Amino acid sequence: MLNQSLGIVKRPQLGGDVEARCGKCKEVREHVIAALDDKGGIARVECRTCGSNHIYRERKTATKTTSTRTVRGTRKDSASMVEAVGPLRAYSMQARFAVGDRLEHQKFGLGIVIEVRASKIDVKFGKELKTLIHAG
Ligand SMILES: [Zn+2]
Repeated sequence: MLNQSLGIVKRPQLGGDVEARCGKCKEVREHVIAALDDKGGIARVECRTCGSNHIYRERKTATKTTSTRTVRGTRKDSASMVEAVGPLRAYSMQARFAVGDRLEHQKFGLGIVIEVRASKIDVKFGKELKTLIHAG
C-alpha cells in the first residue's frame, strides 16, 4: 500500500503472490511466484489452492466487440500492451489465432496478434499493423 502511494511499480518477486488462472482449478486463483524469467517477469507459479506448479499466463480480458473504426485511435495503445505469449506458428487463412499469438507471415515476417474480430485479426509486424484473415 505504501509503495503504491509513492508511485513505485511493484515488481514480481519470488515467493510473492499473484493472481493467475489455474489450469487444474479452472479458475483464477491466488498463486505463489515460483520462478522468474530473465526479464524479471513471472515464469512459473504455484497454485495456493491445489498446489500445482505451472507456467504463468496473464489473465486475459474478454475480447472487445467494439468496431475497429471507432477504436482506431486506441489501437496503438492496446498494441503496446499485448505480450507475445502464444506459440510461433506459420500464418494461414485456415488457422485460428488468438490475441498474443505469434505468427510468421510469408510476406510480412514475424508478427503478434493484437486483436481478433470474427474472421479477421490485427497483427503487428514491427511498427506496422496489418489486418489479416483467419478461420475465426
Ligand atoms: Zn489450482
